[in-house]
Amino acid sequence: MSGQSYDVIIVGAGPAGSYIAYELASSGHGVAVFEEKGASGLNICCTGIISTECFQSLDLGKDMILTEVKSVKFYSPSGRCLKFQTDNVQACVVDRLLLDKALASKAQAQGAQYFFSSPVIDIVPGKDSIQVETSCSGAREIFSARAVVLANGFTPKLPHKLGLGRIKRFLIGAQAEIEAKDIDEFEVYFGQGIAPGAFAWLVPISANKAYVGLLATSQAKLYLQKFLDSLFSQGRITSRDVEIRQRAVPIGTLTRSYGDRLLVIGDAAGQVKPTTGGGIYFGHLGARIAAEVLDGALSNDSLTADQLSRYQKKWRAKMDRELSHGYWARWVYSKLSDRQIEGIFNILNSDGMTETLLNSGNFSFDWHSRLVSAILRRSSAYPLLKIRHLIFREASL
Ligand SMILES: Cc1cc2nc3c(=O)[nH]c(=O)nc-3n(C[C@H](O)[C@H](O)[C@H](O)COP(=O)(O)OP(=O)(O)OC[C@H]3O[C@@H](n4cnc5c(N)ncnc54)[C@H](O)[C@@H]3O)c2cc1C
Repeated sequence: MSGQSYDVIIVGAGPAGSYIAYELASSGHGVAVFEEKGASGLNICCTGIISTECFQSLDLGKDMILTEVKSVKFYSPSGRCLKFQTDNVQACVVDRLLLDKALASKAQAQGAQYFFSSPVIDIVPGKDSIQVETSCSGAREIFSARAVVLANGFTPKLPHKLGLGRIKRFLIGAQAEIEAKDIDEFEVYFGQGIAPGAFAWLVPISANKAYVGLLATSQAKLYLQKFLDSLFSQGRITSRDVEIRQRAVPIGTLTRSYGDRLLVIGDAAGQVKPTTGGGIYFGHLGARIAAEVLDGALSNDSLTADQLSRYQKKWRAKMDRELSHGYWARWVYSKLSDRQIEGIFNILNSDGMTETLLNSGNFSFDWHSRLVSAILRRSSAYPLLKIRHLIFREASL
């Protein structure tokens, strides 16, 4: 069966997909969004922490903010606490269900058409159009468009099939919502026995509820269950039998995020902060840049891979430094022992280093490369020298 034709078809109604749908529909293009879930924001596995910079850029109502973040407590493997506090709100925790719904509503208000329960099965670029095969509520249909945007999260099958490469490195994120007592600040836990290669977190979302989650190189669900057990035995949570959801987070980018009549944005392209696994803001920036390039390309009818390559140049110019510093920092961290992580806590705790870093202008919730460089510049003690050594060894490989 053959369906309608559009200027742009977007695959995936996550934050990146709905944002570009909004931008392109606002510019007068005919937009359709295909989403495999039955509605926006179902079964989400995400904490929803975004910077104030990101929240302002999304331009949404404050009703979706669950809490605001002004301080973070970092815990070392041995349980030592370092508190970072700023005068201003740096970030907020948004309700991801409401965020996804609000972005989809904004796009629909501009005329974008949404098809839910409609997984995209195949995409075939042609000379004059691009064909999209979907299974709309179980029935196969082919739609056509002048261009397609892949915003389908970290699901490598379609980009790989379209010859854009495959993101090979990833972390696994796991999260649960729990009933909690006395959790009123954002807490982050480090240690290779807690969350190998990454970290765990506790984030209050209301007076008696919190998200508990972690990122790990493998077995994230198992490590999260262990973490829940330990919080339960400390009396900090009321139940450890909770639903745990998990999802992969890309730690790398696609070789090519464009093709003939085709762009890739968000997690699908690897637009994710490697230090934290946060992808809402970088995916949003990717969507903005893609919207600008695609708007021009649709107006000039210049939709070849060569012409759309401008998108990759632009988003890489914006994010490359962050991504490369972040990959290094993540790789180095994965090689540290708990003793070395304790050593870093010692250094950060000494001589008011945390205050100096916070006040140095190098601290930003989203842009971590300057902070990583500042820590390395200031370090002279053993654990960080070890980091430098590892970095230079990696750089010379
Ligand atoms: C445990 C955990 C916690 C996290 N916490 C944070 C956080 O606090 N802050 C932050 O910034 N990031 C966080 N992230 C990452 C964040 O969730 C993602 O970066 C973000 O959702 C990416 O947005 P996206 O629009 O690119 O993709 P997604 O949100 O994954 O949306 C993709 C959409 O495409 C749909 N789809 C997939 N395939 C198809 C198909 N073939 N046809 C049709 N539809 C399809 C999916 O159903 C989905 O709705 C977290 C991730 C995890 C795992």
